Amino acid sequence: MRKPKVMISKCLNSEKCRYDGQGFDDKVIRSIREYIDIETVCPEVEIGLATPRDPIRIEKHENDLKLIQHNSNIDYSNEMYEFAEEFIKKVDDLDGFILKSKSPSCGIKDVKIYPKGQKCSISKNGNGFFAQKLIEKDFKILIENEGRLKNYILREEFLTKIFTLNRLKDCNDIKKFHENNKMLLKSYDSNSVEVLENLINNEKTHDLYINKVKEILNNKRSKTNKADIIKDVFNRYKNKLNKEELSYNDELVDLYINEKIPFSSLLVAIKIYALRFNDAELIKQTFFNPYPQKLVNIMDSGKGREL
Ligand code: SF4
Repeated sequence: MRKPKVMISKCLNSEKCRYDGQGFDDKVIRSIREYIDIETVCPEVEIGLATPRDPIRIEKHENDLKLIQHNSNIDYSNEMYEFAEEFIKKVDDLDGFILKSKSPSCGIKDVKIYPKGQKCSISKNGNGFFAQKLIEKDFKILIENEGRLKNYILREEFLTKIFTLNRLKDCNDIKKFHENNKMLLKSYDSNSVEVLENLINNEKTHDLYINKVKEILNNKRSKTNKADIIKDVFNRYKNKLNKEELSYNDELVDLYINEKIPFSSLLVAIKIYALRFNDAELIKQTFFNPYPQKLVNIMDSGKGREL
């Protein structure tokens, strides 16, 4: 069986390729290793830099950004861009990237940019040189940094997307995929199910269906969208539940909306009803189990909730 395939910055995999000769034992990477096929890359080592090495950084030279080794003043911009372009040509069948934050090569949106030859940075919002090329390529897959994945909401979203893409690639019955993932896809785009159903009913449009699912997974799921689906499910059982249970369910949804409990808690509550009422249609929905249960972990940095 296929596992999701994710490319990560090599130093996050405890490999000692950083400029200071160290690596990171990243908790998130450690926890997903068993369930995901991990491939690694260290762009700085790939362009021939030694480990340990003098650090490199991004400098602004008039209108251009350059990748400079400050101590030697050597410019590695071209080497890094050329490596990234060659690397992109060979990337095949990936479901996501996890890159090291703040790195002048791998960082996304949080890399310091220095004025030419100066000590103090002018911005902390740049992309690393390697990451920039991946972003420009627009793979239509997730590119995340390990810092954001310490937040459980962002981690849930990342895992949900890569495992759904994996199910899509791994299935040999696309109609069954649609049946089982219908509710999950609806949580990304509530109008999507009708469009997808038109495509799935005609064998000639199955390729279009696959592309449409990938496109839908690129959307961001809002809390409201997810909460609406949960409310619909609670409603499904409204005639079978007593007043206290119904009010407790409303309370749970409010707690989720106000970020007091994670989404996975709501899924657990729903699953209990689905099992109690032997609701086969609901039990098979991946919406309730989008990725392996053992990866559910509410460990959270408490930062960066924005999707
Ligand atoms: S951040 Fe990227 S370039 Fe830097 S050591 Fe890690 S993998 Fe290599």
